[in-house]
Amino acid sequence: MKTEEKPTDYKKITFRDRINTVDKEGKRVWVFPKMPKGKLYNYRRVVAYILLLFFYLAPHVNLNGEPLIFLNFIERRFVFFGNAFYPQDFHLLVLTLITLLVFIILFTVVYGRIFCGWVCPQTVFMEFLYRPIEYIIDGDRKKQRELARQEMNPVKLLKRIVKHSLFLTISFWTIITFLAYIKGYPEVQTIMAGWPGSKFSTLLGVLAFTGTHYFIFASFREQVCTLVCPYGRLQGVMLDNNSIVVAYDYARGEPRGRGKNENKGDCIDCHKCVEVCPTGIDIRNGTQLECINCTACIDACNSIMYTVNKPKGLIRYASERSIAEPKSKLLNARAIAYSIVLILLIGVVSVAFVNRGDVETTIIRTQGTMFQEYGTEAYSNLYNLQMINKTNETTSLELKLLSHDGEIKILGDKLDVEVGEVEKRNLLIILNKDLLKSSNTHIKIGVYTEGELLEEISSTFVGPNALDK
Ligand code: SF4
Ligand code: SF4
Repeated sequence: MKTEEKPTDYKKITFRDRINTVDKEGKRVWVFPKMPKGKLYNYRRVVAYILLLFFYLAPHVNLNGEPLIFLNFIERRFVFFGNAFYPQDFHLLVLTLITLLVFIILFTVVYGRIFCGWVCPQTVFMEFLYRPIEYIIDGDRKKQRELARQEMNPVKLLKRIVKHSLFLTISFWTIITFLAYIKGYPEVQTIMAGWPGSKFSTLLGVLAFTGTHYFIFASFREQVCTLVCPYGRLQGVMLDNNSIVVAYDYARGEPRGRGKNENKGDCIDCHKCVEVCPTGIDIRNGTQLECINCTACIDACNSIMYTVNKPKGLIRYASERSIAEPKSKLLNARAIAYSIVLILLIGVVSVAFVNRGDVETTIIRTQGTMFQEYGTEAYSNLYNLQMINKTNETTSLELKLLSHDGEIKILGDKLDVEVGEVEKRNLLIILNKDLLKSSNTHIKIGVYTEGELLEEISSTFVGPNALDK
């Protein structure tokens, strides 16, 4: 801040000892935000409706014969964009989660709570599904307040019934959609067709989750971000003066007030930024834990600046330092370090995904067995074979010895592995005695389907110790 021009009057600064939506007695202060309007709100609306459409439609869209996303926790089979994943792919999940975690931290350090304002499900559901319904039925901020003050009357009762019925319907359908992600939509249809007679426990579960979802969006609302969300709680340690957040340019705006006094800043103290805030705060008091970076106050202030013929951006995406020192750097050392880690992790995850085969094969020598004479000219070793088919169709597989001119005998029927099944067999590998140069011979086995090599497996073949001499 340019302290020599506008010294801070610390006597006027007030500090809060409670969140903004709780009064001195500890009672909830209900927020009636004004409907946002503006460029950023329109962009956010596009992002939100794409996300909502994806969420509600993904279980109904099939790709490679599979739902777009399918999270079958019971059978431990997960499908993402037509690719099936199994417990054997756990390392990919861990890598992806680590990458995601670093990604979120990096983004928060550099761009503040951009995730909260633009893509967080809480914000998307609240601001672009439930809140618009409320605006349509109850009206904007002023009408909502009037309605809240009124004693119950036929009009208010009707509005409440319509609004909460819609909220409950959306909550119910949202929970059904979650269930479709876990069980698949056809299965969910079958379950629902049996209600209430059969699958009563599922019905109870769906109703309990519907009630919770409804409570969150009809009543608890911004308290989720302020009191419950761990990501929100972590902001204090992740943000610093260089983080880009929704910020009020106090250097330009203060001293605030109306009138044409030359010493006045650009803020006309119209409170429009406060009225639109879904968490009920005044961004002019600086970055606060309740701020979800929704940008509603940017849009509101920009429209005021336009009407008073002042440049936009009195509230904007900016770092504290860029307001105090306009020539400061955007990226600090911490952000650069996180970026390098992130790029490395993305590289590792990409390589791991690209190298993930359609079939995963393990061949290990059966414990406690040694070599066997096989006729007079050869030795045999017994192995345990395990194969997992990660494709979407039954696959016929063949094994060939790549490293030696030997033979593989798989015990049992033809090797047809069902989708997602783990096929376990025993197999014999037979090698001529004259091929063995030591008691431990490195061998390579190729896994084929329809003549195409899918993967190469390495193992060892044991022979008599006499070969080592
Ligand atoms: S202060 Fe602005 S960006 Fe933060 S929550 Fe309120 S309206 Fe959204
Ligand atoms: S909307 Fe802009 S001008 Fe109005 S009070 Fe907020 S910061 Fe000041």
